[in-house]
Amino acid sequence: MPPIYLDNNSTTRVAPEVLAAMEPYWREQFGNPSSLHLLGQAARHAIEVAREHVAALIGATPREIVFTSGGTESDNLAILGTLAAYPTKNHVVTTAVEHPAIHSLCERLAAQGARVTFVGVDIDGHLNIDEFAAALTDGTAIASVMYANNETGVLFPIREIAELCNARGIPLHVDAVQAAGKLPIDVKTLGAKLLTISAHKIHAPKGAGALYVGRGARLRSTQVGGHQERDIRPGTENVAAIVGFGEAARLAKERLTRGDMSRVATLRDRLDRGLCERVPFARVLGDPANRTPNTTSIAFESLEAEAILVALSERGVCASSGSACSSGSLEPSHVLKAMGIPQALAHGAIRFSLSVETTDDEIDDALRIVPEVAHRLASLTARTDYAAKR
Ligand code: PLP
Repeated sequence: MPPIYLDNNSTTRVAPEVLAAMEPYWREQFGNPSSLHLLGQAARHAIEVAREHVAALIGATPREIVFTSGGTESDNLAILGTLAAYPTKNHVVTTAVEHPAIHSLCERLAAQGARVTFVGVDIDGHLNIDEFAAALTDGTAIASVMYANNETGVLFPIREIAELCNARGIPLHVDAVQAAGKLPIDVKTLGAKLLTISAHKIHAPKGAGALYVGRGARLRSTQVGGHQERDIRPGTENVAAIVGFGEAARLAKERLTRGDMSRVATLRDRLDRGLCERVPFARVLGDPANRTPNTTSIAFESLEAEAILVALSERGVCASSGSACSSGSLEPSHVLKAMGIPQALAHGAIRFSLSVETTDDEIDDALRIVPEVAHRLASLTARTDYAAKR
């Protein structure tokens, strides 16, 4: 049986159309896009076509798209490039639940002397918007907020956040890595100045991403080299990956227009409901009514996420946890900690993330296998007494 892949927030399979679109750029069309000869110009043209597709996915103009090596680089460029452009300001406002590409960067900036405010969330994962508004000051260089949380799928109210930032003339960066392709995004109505997306989360290869740099955004390049990407991101472009990114963006937009993600949401909801019915000690984390259509984080109370993941993997189910294994002990993720999820739940939190490739049969199989694993592990840890004790 092929694996049941429910870890699409980690990465997605490259779509066959994407693979086909990329192939010529590893073979006969191998030119450097900065070269003036015909092979170089063919590569340049392919990048510009990809730029149009990526721009269209988020309602941007092609000129506003800067290709990078992925979400992490785009996130770093947004923050560091903006700080460099505002040398008299050293305050960053972000949230307590960002991906490490923002969270760890902000922690490092704070250790280096910048002022960073990490705005909190409630137990459902909702941003404390009053706290966010109060954190913005005249010394704030940039605010950075994720669109959708990678662990829980919970969405932040970006438009409202952008209004607060724009009213104070503070540029807003949005990490939309987990939202792009899953929800319609229109940067023009969103109000953000900068927005990050990543290729490998939308069925394109790893190692490509983009930063939307809206008109009026002030940004300095963080690396030095040639003149690629309007001097904002020097370095020879990863042509094949960018071409794949463009094709994946085109397919993602088509899917959004067709409404394919509502089928994914139906499967996800069936998984959620089915697991909670079959496993009395399972609980959905984060506001179930305000999430990306493909993600659910389910806590199996008093179990260890690592044990669940290993057992699931042995049965062919690929999922992920919000825990990071550090020095042999499983630390619950900073996201679940910030939400105030009790330890006994946070330690057993598993993220299931679907994609347009997920089938009804796979969800049926997951609904058989996951409860079997959970009940077996629970019996090993005397969890079977749970129902009786309650
Ligand atoms: N931001 C978010 C919300 C993510 O989920 C991820 C990856 O999981 C990243 C940034 C980093 O993207 P990349 O893997 O392309 O560096």
